[in-house]
Amino acid sequence: MDKFSCLSSTNYLEIFIRHFLNFQGKFCLLGTKACYKLHPKSTNFKPKTNVSNFQIMAVMRNNTILLASLLCLSDLFLASSSASASHFNTSVHEGFVECLNEKSLPNEPISELIYTPNNSSFSTILQTYIRNLRFNETTTRKPYLIITPTKISHIQSSILCAKRYGMLMKIRSGGHDYEGLSYVADSPFFILDLFNFKSIDLNMEEETAWVQVGAMIGEVLYGIYNKSKVHGFPNGVCPTVGIGGNFGGGGYGNMMRKHGLSVDHILDALIVDVNGRLLDRAAMGEDLFWAINGGGSASFGVVVSYKIHIVRVPPVVTVFNVKRTYAENATYLVRRWQEIAHKLDDDLFIRMIIDVVNDTTTDTPNAKTIRSAFFAMFLGDSERLLSVMNKSFPELGLKKSDCTEMNWAESVVYYTRFPAGTPVEALLDRKPQVLTHLKRKSDYLKKPMPIEGIEFIFKKMIEFETPVLTFNPYGGKMAEISPTAKPFPHRAGNIAKIQYATNWNQSGVHTAEHYLKVTNELFAYMTPYVSKNPREHFLNYRDLDIGINRNGKSKIKNYREGRVYGVKYFLKENFNRLVRIKTVVDPDNFFRNEQSIPVLP
Ligand SMILES: Cc1cc2nc3c(=O)[nH]c(=O)nc-3n(C[C@H](O)[C@H](O)[C@H](O)COP(=O)(O)OP(=O)(O)OC[C@H]3O[C@@H](n4cnc5c(N)ncnc54)[C@H](O)[C@@H]3O)c2cc1C
Repeated sequence: MDKFSCLSSTNYLEIFIRHFLNFQGKFCLLGTKACYKLHPKSTNFKPKTNVSNFQIMAVMRNNTILLASLLCLSDLFLASSSASASHFNTSVHEGFVECLNEKSLPNEPISELIYTPNNSSFSTILQTYIRNLRFNETTTRKPYLIITPTKISHIQSSILCAKRYGMLMKIRSGGHDYEGLSYVADSPFFILDLFNFKSIDLNMEEETAWVQVGAMIGEVLYGIYNKSKVHGFPNGVCPTVGIGGNFGGGGYGNMMRKHGLSVDHILDALIVDVNGRLLDRAAMGEDLFWAINGGGSASFGVVVSYKIHIVRVPPVVTVFNVKRTYAENATYLVRRWQEIAHKLDDDLFIRMIIDVVNDTTTDTPNAKTIRSAFFAMFLGDSERLLSVMNKSFPELGLKKSDCTEMNWAESVVYYTRFPAGTPVEALLDRKPQVLTHLKRKSDYLKKPMPIEGIEFIFKKMIEFETPVLTFNPYGGKMAEISPTAKPFPHRAGNIAKIQYATNWNQSGVHTAEHYLKVTNELFAYMTPYVSKNPREHFLNYRDLDIGINRNGKSKIKNYREGRVYGVKYFLKENFNRLVRIKTVVDPDNFFRNEQSIPVLP
């Protein structure tokens, strides 16, 4: 039964008429004044009446044909036997594929780019960009089909045909969504997989580039490095993350304190909207452009590419990774970091990573202790770095021998934790270094944690063992940009963003439950120390625990559900603006997922 749940009554109606009655023409709903025309390629089937129970009278070529008094038609559908259900599905599916083929341009055929489960490459295509093995179980719902467009016309026909057949579309660029929203759904769906959209066109004179959404961060950074050793981009540092999702959620990296987010450097974009129109910034207008710069583009359309402004970087940067255990005064250093990390020189980004390791200072078997790593990238040489550190964070005791100088692209390779000596070309590898089952959550730190709070959290971490806490310092440029400049609102007033990270290697629901539980418990124990009213979170660290939208028929319910997570990701003002924009550009909520922006009720 739930196979039908993504189809609205209107879709049932259209599909019924098209496929069971093989009908094109005009029909009216008995008892209402509503009449509709169905053309072979019609995509504007939008009755204003709720048609869950209805009677149909069809009018065709001036001959009125009473088809039937079809009372409770949708109920009849749903109650039909599994044989007719599968016929129904096949019918929808075939109609959808037919529509795609019909709509594709003669010189841009789409048929070879459609993968159904019968195709021998289906699983490979599906799994290549699954970046969280938690959603690669046999029990994970699979898509009806996958479309891998190579031309914009393929994206346009995918949207128009999906609308016509009531198909739920998931948009995938790099597949790194932490909750798998680009390739998993509770109801039947297909994937629009954009990995072929990966061109990067650099204009070094302008210091700009057009980057397509299926390009990975690593490919963009390598492309820039290939042209200039003194340019870079404030991207994330994980090379395999896709541009589509990354920019759609803001995008941050270790130049954030110097240059802000990726979306603070976007000049233009191309999007295909719900009507299949290809729009640039001028055509889409400033509201929609604002929304797709951090508001979760999947709620608004299919972004094809972004134009970015690339930034200058010094020829030499310096990195270090200094680790201190509990016995080496980690508690005090963690506290001290929280006091100063956001106030340091803007050229300096020190990430703090707290995890649990074997305690080698005791004979007790399996004893564990806390370790805090201070993992840094400095936009300058080691001499200047040492002077900054001696002035601002002498407690860490940084030494010249802890520091390594390199160019900026090499620092990305280092920061991604490739083995020492790995060439910069590694940024081009589409295969992630590590592929595992995972869960991520996020928080914002506004005040330093009290020493006793830090001690308490350390104790809990040792108890849970697996979750790792990563603190990314804010301040600098981040604090200078208005919280409403982009949908991403977490600017001044934040010391750091915290990531909760739990990885595990065993498959299975029960194993996952254990790791999800310990992550949630640690998250709960952090409540007194993090942002409140609302507790703020980062969209790119997607977390369905903070609220989901069932995208049911009631707009009021959708809005209420969307508000729960929306305000936590975007704060009230930005969320309200996103809702207003969504209501204008996609009033029927075609572009939806479990955490999309709802329309106004
Ligand atoms: C290992 C790892 C490291 C990470 N490091 C960072 C980091 O340093 N900085 C940071 O900011 N984030 C980081 N993230 C988070 C990452 O930015 C987000 O998960 C991002 O959404 C992934 O983008 P994607 O295109 O790879 O994912 P996808 O799963 O393809 O997409 C994510 C979301 O965006 C939507 N979407 C994708 N493409 C489009 C499009 N073209 N048009 C409309 N909607 C689209 C999808 O439908 C989905 O909802 C990291 C994630 C991982 C797994």
